[in-house]
Amino acid sequence: MMARLQKAGYTLVDDASCADVAIVNTCGFIEAAKKESIGEILELGRLKKAGCIKALVVTGCMAERYQQEIRKELPEADAVCGIGADADIVEVVDRTLRGEHPELFPDKMLLPLCGERIQSTPPYSSYLKIAEGCDNRCSYCAIPLIRGPYRSRPMESILEEAETLAKNGTKELIVIAQDTTRYGCDLYKKRMLPELLQKLCKVDGIVWIRVLYCYPDFMTEELMDTIAREPKIVKYIDLPLQHCSGTVLRAMRRFGNREKLTALIQKMRARIPGLILRTTMIAGFPGETEEDFAQLCAFIKEIRFERLGCFAYSQEEDTPAAEMENQIEEEEKRRRADRVMETQMGIMQDWGEAQVGKVLDVLTEGFEEETACWFGRSYADAPEIDGRIYFTAGEAPAPGQFVRVRITACMDCDLMGEAE
Ligand code: SF4
Repeated sequence: MMARLQKAGYTLVDDASCADVAIVNTCGFIEAAKKESIGEILELGRLKKAGCIKALVVTGCMAERYQQEIRKELPEADAVCGIGADADIVEVVDRTLRGEHPELFPDKMLLPLCGERIQSTPPYSSYLKIAEGCDNRCSYCAIPLIRGPYRSRPMESILEEAETLAKNGTKELIVIAQDTTRYGCDLYKKRMLPELLQKLCKVDGIVWIRVLYCYPDFMTEELMDTIAREPKIVKYIDLPLQHCSGTVLRAMRRFGNREKLTALIQKMRARIPGLILRTTMIAGFPGETEEDFAQLCAFIKEIRFERLGCFAYSQEEDTPAAEMENQIEEEEKRRRADRVMETQMGIMQDWGEAQVGKVLDVLTEGFEEETACWFGRSYADAPEIDGRIYFTAGEAPAPGQFVRVRITACMDCDLMGEAE
């Protein structure tokens, strides 16, 4: 959308109060995300009322999911359009500036998978989306309803984009999709993530390749070995498991149980030395008994994931889980999620302390005035969700520069150190 608008002659600005038109690209898959999106729309509505901006466009997942409701409940929005209208953003903005109130909800399959791009992250670290949609149909999840079925991007287009990103200074590629491990199943009739990763490794200038959002059933030996073998692929895997109890997983329409997941993780750790494993869990799924929850806590303590996030189950309309009996009280769901996170904080503290004395390659991201330290991330940290490494350096490193840092201390999820 940004590239299309710029090409049409619009100037992009970061600060909405300097803009004629504000576009909110909403998220809407769970309650917390919807609240954040609505808060943003209301805030921009106030700017519009104060005369700072002329028009407000709402698009993205929440607009796609709640087409009628947004129109009715959020009159601040001058235009509302679904994800299939991404390619029509110039027309939407033009019309809005002419005082019209367009509502565009074309087929979501029209969402362009490829095309020119303007990066909104710092140039040295870039997300690379390899597919759109999801076919897994987990019973709690609204994403397949919002984004549609799984569709892989052609490999040539992904590689071309990676080349362009590398030429523009990207050092770290973060490979994403709703499910990265399914890549190729639709387009090439087989799983092609290992082949794609091997080709991405050949792109000059790329130093780190990070793979997020893997589905446990598709964590094949071929994929593990590719990650282990290729030096550019960081030994960090994000494998959202959601739970470990076989009963809860079945109700979630996912596979496996504690034994099978434990065996998978043992295999991954054995085949990929130095592996940092991130996962996501859901606490308080309908029907989760005290016993299921105790099993989840015991599993987390046993596996000792280096990184873990836990959500309280969010009851999403039009999903099978929302209709299930035995819904758990909000307070209880939150209590369980908090307990998981308390357990995890201890595990992460131990992991952090074990890093003291090690020397890590750190991708510099910036300088913090308050602590007078540089900061960045090692291979063990994905941007935005994991911790940072704060370090002192004799010579000022530039953002995007790799620095060898000796770790001297750990504090919660962050590490401290000195550049060598
Ligand atoms: S794999 Fe992820 S995106 Fe797909 S349905 Fe399950 S939770 Fe949703």
